[in-house]
Amino acid sequence: MNIMFKSTRGDKNSVTASQAIVKGIADDGGLYVPETMPKIDFPLDAVTEYSYQELAYQVLKLVLTDYTEEELRYCINSAYDEKFDTKLIAPVVKAGNDNFLELFHGRTIAFKDMALSILPYLLKTAAKKNGVNEEIVILTATSGDTGKAALEGFADVEGTNIIVFFPEDGVSAVQKAQMVTQTGANTCVVGIKGNFDDAQTAVKKIFTDNELKAELKNKGYVFSSANSINIGRLAPQIVYYFYAYAQMVKSGNISMGDKLNFTVPTGNFGDILAGYYAKCMGLPVNKLICASNDNKVLYDFFKTGVYTIKNREFMVTVSPSMDILISSNLERLLYHLSNSAEATKSMMTDLNTKGSYEFKIEDEFAGEYATVDETFKAIKGIFDEYNYVMDTHTAVAKASYDKYVAETGDNTPNVIVSTASPYKFAKDVLKAIDNKYDNVEPFAALDELEKISGAAIPAPIKGINKREVLHKTVIERNELKSFVQNKLK
Ligand SMILES: *Cc1c(COP(=O)(O)O)cnc(C)c1O
Repeated sequence: MNIMFKSTRGDKNSVTASQAIVKGIADDGGLYVPETMPKIDFPLDAVTEYSYQELAYQVLKLVLTDYTEEELRYCINSAYDEKFDTKLIAPVVKAGNDNFLELFHGRTIAFKDMALSILPYLLKTAAKKNGVNEEIVILTATSGDTGKAALEGFADVEGTNIIVFFPEDGVSAVQKAQMVTQTGANTCVVGIKGNFDDAQTAVKKIFTDNELKAELKNKGYVFSSANSINIGRLAPQIVYYFYAYAQMVKSGNISMGDKLNFTVPTGNFGDILAGYYAKCMGLPVNKLICASNDNKVLYDFFKTGVYTIKNREFMVTVSPSMDILISSNLERLLYHLSNSAEATKSMMTDLNTKGSYEFKIEDEFAGEYATVDETFKAIKGIFDEYNYVMDTHTAVAKASYDKYVAETGDNTPNVIVSTASPYKFAKDVLKAIDNKYDNVEPFAALDELEKISGAAIPAPIKGINKREVLHKTVIERNELKSFVQNKLK
């Protein structure tokens, strides 16, 4: 079946998967969604036989239907190779009764690598298929992890240019060091005096600024996005939900066909939405548990049916990649559940004008959240008991999951999606484990964590504080557009 993509806000033009990937976002500001939801065409039993790469092919061919087998396999094999430090790519690891789907074995040690290792290949292939001859400019707003993963993916990829905006004071020391030391002639990293929402909103505005787009097209540039608003980010993330399920069957935690819960530490709602797509495609999922930190706009939304950013303060927490109040991919879920572009558009308008909208999500989802204190307790608890170290984001999910079980008594087997290596947030992880580390320097924390965890510092960040800082620009949050215009002369 050929799957076309259309805008959540009703733009009449349908596009192919490869066109949606090149464009990133629809012209009316909506996000691309599949017109019909694909269904798996392989027997579910087969998932236990597939390698990660084979499973990726079996799933992606159903979603990105205008790519040929040869193209898809090329993209997959180029992405999921020795860049990952385990052949499994995304192993499920057990600690006590919890199952952690570790998505941090790629080059930047966070889950964004799962999609951003393949996106540059999907995008280049898409450009070729669609006769796009302009240079592709990837504009990315990052809460810390997307930026680095996108930079690694696109560095020195011919025909592309990448500009990353990150909140100057809103990322961890390791995250910042990873970005500002990025090499590659086509890379550009810019700090902004604002938070992630400011960066994401400004970038989305540039994507729908038709005048600017025309001006740059004349100069030989087109924009695309490496954020999870790009369907090319979401599609590869569907794969690991199937893969986790297969591992849970193989390890005897569930029987083939049983339902499984997933608890997902959530910011922009991209990761968990991929889980929803996996479910729609035929994976036996019971609940998707959406875990938030103190920026619990999603928790309140699931509880009350009101999404509101009115009178809500943006909190800087120990899980910065989830410090988000405007959760972009929720728009896609609203579209699927309301089955109406008109309703979706009006909710998004309400959010812009009134700062809130109303919609009641059915019980396929549950919302929970964890405070910083609860997050720290979870890290310490699991470390003391099982010597397993969770990063701060994964710990938000673990603490949220425990609260969910206490409230509901739901004993469906569960997988906690583990989104980052603890090394990426070593300082806060250590602080959680013992207050003697309260004043440890961010980079000394790496060595300390190595000592107590017994797991070596991952190669990608070893000695990172000694690398040369190559990107020093910091701009105001209203200067993104002029920055881009000046840069692309
Ligand atoms: C991006 C990120 C998240 C949130 O994922 P979304 O797809 O934005 O919901 C959670 N944890 C880490 C470590 C991340 O980098």
